[in-house]
Amino acid sequence: MNPKILLIYTGGTIGMTKLAHKEILQPFNFDSLLKKIPELKLLQCEIETISFEPPIDSSNIGPNHWIHLAELIESHYETHQGFVVLHGSDTMSYSASALSFMLENLNKPVIFTGSQLPIGDLRTDAKENLITAIQLASLQQNNIPIIKEVGLYFEYKLFRGNRTTKINADHFNAFASNNYAPLVTSGVELQVQYNLLLKKNPNKEIKVWKNLNTNVVLIKLFPGIQSTTIASILEAPNLKGVVLETYGSGNATTSNWFLKLIKQAISKGIYIVNTTQCSGGMVQMGKYETSQYLQELGVISCRDMTTEAAITKMMFLLGTNKLKNFRFAYQTSLRGELTEN
Ligand code: ASP
Repeated sequence: MNPKILLIYTGGTIGMTKLAHKEILQPFNFDSLLKKIPELKLLQCEIETISFEPPIDSSNIGPNHWIHLAELIESHYETHQGFVVLHGSDTMSYSASALSFMLENLNKPVIFTGSQLPIGDLRTDAKENLITAIQLASLQQNNIPIIKEVGLYFEYKLFRGNRTTKINADHFNAFASNNYAPLVTSGVELQVQYNLLLKKNPNKEIKVWKNLNTNVVLIKLFPGIQSTTIASILEAPNLKGVVLETYGSGNATTSNWFLKLIKQAISKGIYIVNTTQCSGGMVQMGKYETSQYLQELGVISCRDMTTEAAITKMMFLLGTNKLKNFRFAYQTSLRGELTEN
């Protein structure tokens, strides 16, 4: 029997059109989008579609939309074999990361995709991205889905969603996953790297987590950042967690004022995690003196997680309220988002 795929359209360039007499791109209705790809009828699967009303530019995506997506997947989980989420590329890596954490024990594919040019454009990348994303969501062996995780498909590569970052606003090749190789490469055939896929216990039921704590902040360090700036951020009401984007392998200034502020925040119960500004590689606190102090103060390592995974994992863990284990859980690979020792 052909697999049944749920195609969820959230918006994004893929379904945008230019307003009459203007150059501004705005999302348009999903049925018009589907009419532009008659090829979908040729795929070996049954496609059901749901659209956000109204479809949105992904700059407007937030945790409530992630919860809505998780609920849509949950309510169609038994009846569908795979899911494709059409999403703007700007925040797609955040959404794919968030959903990866929210969908525990996922045993089916959830593939995010979108495009750099609208589907109606002559040179569009939308058709290939959408058609292959649906094929990936339909891939099965003995009626069991091959991909059992949240992926992101763009320009001939399927990545683990929570390992991706948008790296280019112009190129079709808009995403990178510098710390984890592609799960599938699309050439003449779909080349699946079976050894890289997440393996799931089929006997475990899916658990959908819907609480996200958004009292978090991302601070990107730069030479010259002011103590008053950091102090005022750390005094934000209800702040629970900070993702600190540091230099290189997790290094930061050793100025007294900085270390004092970090110490004060941690003593107030704020979790501070350390991720690197580098697009590849790993945080190794203690490698240099400039990271050893952070380690001693109780800053938690993000290891080789992306910033997108770091911030959404923090919202997820703070939202689950299992705070006794926060440090351990944060440094553990929950959905393949980081490389453990
Ligand atoms: N601004 C668009 C969005 O993220 C860009 C895209 O779709 O690629 O919704």
